[in-house]
Amino acid sequence: MLFLGQNTDPHSERGVECPGALPPASDPDLVERALKAKAALGDQVFVLGHHYQRDEVIQFADVTGDSFKLARDAAARPDAPYIVFCGVHFMAESADILTNDQQTVILPDLAAGCSMADMARIQQVEAAWDALADAGVADVTVPVTYMNSSADIKAFCGRHGGVVCTSSNAETALNWAFEQGEKVLFLPDQHLGRNTAVLQLGMSLDDCVVYDPHKPNGGLTKEQLAAAKMILWRGHCSVHGRFTAESVDDVRSRVPGVNVIVHPECRHEVVTKADQVGSTEYIIQALETAEPGTSWAVGTELNLVQRLAKQHTDKNIVFLDKTVCYCATMNRIDLPHFVWALENLVAGHVVNPIKVDADTEHYAKVALDQMLALPGKTAKD
Ligand code: SF4
Repeated sequence: MLFLGQNTDPHSERGVECPGALPPASDPDLVERALKAKAALGDQVFVLGHHYQRDEVIQFADVTGDSFKLARDAAARPDAPYIVFCGVHFMAESADILTNDQQTVILPDLAAGCSMADMARIQQVEAAWDALADAGVADVTVPVTYMNSSADIKAFCGRHGGVVCTSSNAETALNWAFEQGEKVLFLPDQHLGRNTAVLQLGMSLDDCVVYDPHKPNGGLTKEQLAAAKMILWRGHCSVHGRFTAESVDDVRSRVPGVNVIVHPECRHEVVTKADQVGSTEYIIQALETAEPGTSWAVGTELNLVQRLAKQHTDKNIVFLDKTVCYCATMNRIDLPHFVWALENLVAGHVVNPIKVDADTEHYAKVALDQMLALPGKTAKD
């Protein structure tokens, strides 16, 4: 096990090192230093900020959005040699894949990983594919991975005729996948896979099985694999997975007339109890267009919920859970790391570049391009 800030584990998104002097968080001049460094870099740098980032960082973002929107925004700025990605590791990888070879993507803290993405390692996914082959179903299975996965998992999908999806186009991606084959191996978020299959494609819970990478053959028999339509990877988001059916019941008893809106990374029993379910961008839109005076309990990351509550003071916006919970890895990107990355750039040093190797990039792009070519609904988050 590694202590944060020391050494690097090349097989994990959590491995970190932070060479050079990191400004102390207590430095009262951090905001001024960030402004000065950003001004000095001018058009040389383009700063992307994910919706789940802290306010202290998001104030410096040139654009904000969720993972897919930000990767596309980065690709739309081919003139900026440096992209500073205030988000997590898999997002910076996607930005590197979608930007040109002359551009460098920088993640201010390499400890900003994603627990969900870490739940599917390429060696585990290759072993799962072998188990599907043993069961005689690999040929009729299409791998679909959520955007929240590492580049090598996306490349796996590209190599095996699959696709990437986002939380807003998962239904379209699954419909496409079932036109290509009889089964789907859905990575790495079991909840998005199950919620989409059952609530949008009309499958039953019995059509879904959960593949546990920590058990031999995923803990499934060949007969179970043969009978299933949706083979769900046993992964989840540690933030959205905290919301429970009781959280929904509780907020309904505390806040009369409340509308419950949740992200599809939440558990099935939470999503079925909610009034609305949708991606981060969907939630933002829903609250923007909501009637003044209405009450909303929001089941997504706390930084975003707090920001929405501040922006829409004419509505009563509360966090779905009573317990405060930020995405710990998203929160790794703080002002000291941001200033450190920018000031190093001003001094001519590139710190924490995220570079996906050429072969992985090629096949990951195959799966991403397949997503962009999906019919119907625009593939945006
Ligand atoms: S909110 Fe969940 S899915 Fe998003 S980065 Fe954090 S752990 Fe990963």
